[in-house]
Amino acid sequence: MKDLIQTLGENLEAQRAAARERARRLSRSYRCRCGNQVFFDNTLCLKCDSTLGYLPDEGRVAVMEPGPREGTCKTPGRVDLLKFCANRDSPAACNWMLYADNPHPFCIACRLNRTIPDLDDEDNGRYWIRIEAAKRRLVSQLLQLGLPVRSKIHDDPEGGLMFDFLRSPREGPQVMTGHADGLITLNVEEADDARREAIRHAMREPYRTLLGHFRHEVGHYYWDRLVRDGRWLQPFRDLFGDERADYAQALKRNYEQGPPANWAATFISAYATVHPWEDWAETWAHYLHVVDSLTTAMGFGLDADDIQGYVIPFERDALYAPDDPNAARFLELLNGWMEIAMVMNEMARSMGQPDFYPFVISRPAVAKLQFVQMVVFEARSSAEA
Ligand SMILES: [Zn+2]
Ligand SMILES: [Zn+2]
Ligand SMILES: [Zn+2]
Repeated sequence: MKDLIQTLGENLEAQRAAARERARRLSRSYRCRCGNQVFFDNTLCLKCDSTLGYLPDEGRVAVMEPGPREGTCKTPGRVDLLKFCANRDSPAACNWMLYADNPHPFCIACRLNRTIPDLDDEDNGRYWIRIEAAKRRLVSQLLQLGLPVRSKIHDDPEGGLMFDFLRSPREGPQVMTGHADGLITLNVEEADDARREAIRHAMREPYRTLLGHFRHEVGHYYWDRLVRDGRWLQPFRDLFGDERADYAQALKRNYEQGPPANWAATFISAYATVHPWEDWAETWAHYLHVVDSLTTAMGFGLDADDIQGYVIPFERDALYAPDDPNAARFLELLNGWMEIAMVMNEMARSMGQPDFYPFVISRPAVAKLQFVQMVVFEARSSAEA
């Protein structure tokens, strides 16, 4: 018995060490060589004037020095020659790096763009900066989670991903944000704060952001890639419902009747009630929200153990797979998140701001979140194998 407890303890310790390493890679806290704190989007250290670039393979911001050939860079601690993404000096202000010998001018994130808005229009330039900033945050997280990220235009026409950022013509029709077969379309007016806030209000949503749109739509993409054709499909149907249910009819029903009154007892959001595909995409987006926010907190040394407050923790009986080897760690993360979100919400209220995390996670949503994590972990381990 003692041995068993000891083994369980060691397993948890090993999982914690692995999770700390993952958290370090997912962290958003970076230091310049001068010691100054620098951030994900920075191109320059404001203290020592060093040129900065983001290394998508390592998930960190680093100092860039001129390389031996024109147009190349090197960074302390790496032998390979790098170059800046060609979008560095565009309104996208991309700070990502790529190998100097890569024939593409654009980084892995910018290479996913098929259509960008017409930059002759001043508003579009403003929108595009915000869209790219949100997209880089999305793509950096996908890469650090070990998920496949390949351009449908340049690298993988069958299974890749690409983006169209479109503006609705004045005479209509309205561009619809959505996903179809690896193409994510975004209505660029979602980058206009006043318009997006008006839509959020009209739709009675507690949360609507560019990053939220991207995380939701990319959830549909990864459903196609990781669930549709594999061993997760049946377990998915058992947990989320049968996605063969008529989608157009489901949308119509939602439009006419709205969500069921008690949706919060089962779903992560009202929109998740529309169809099993939307439930998956909403849960997937939440998984990415929670992991990014929590690893950011951990990267800056915020630890849920230090919080003086109490949230009733979820136990193993709320899980989809209580015996999964990562179950204990998943619960620890989720319960840690609940405490940090509680404090962040109170801090937002102290400033008169809307809640930082305006959601309540129900027990069925916990099971679905763990399911998403299991799919993500399996995709990562098969990519590493
Ligand atoms: Zn510096
Ligand atoms: Zn780029
Ligand atoms: Zn959707």
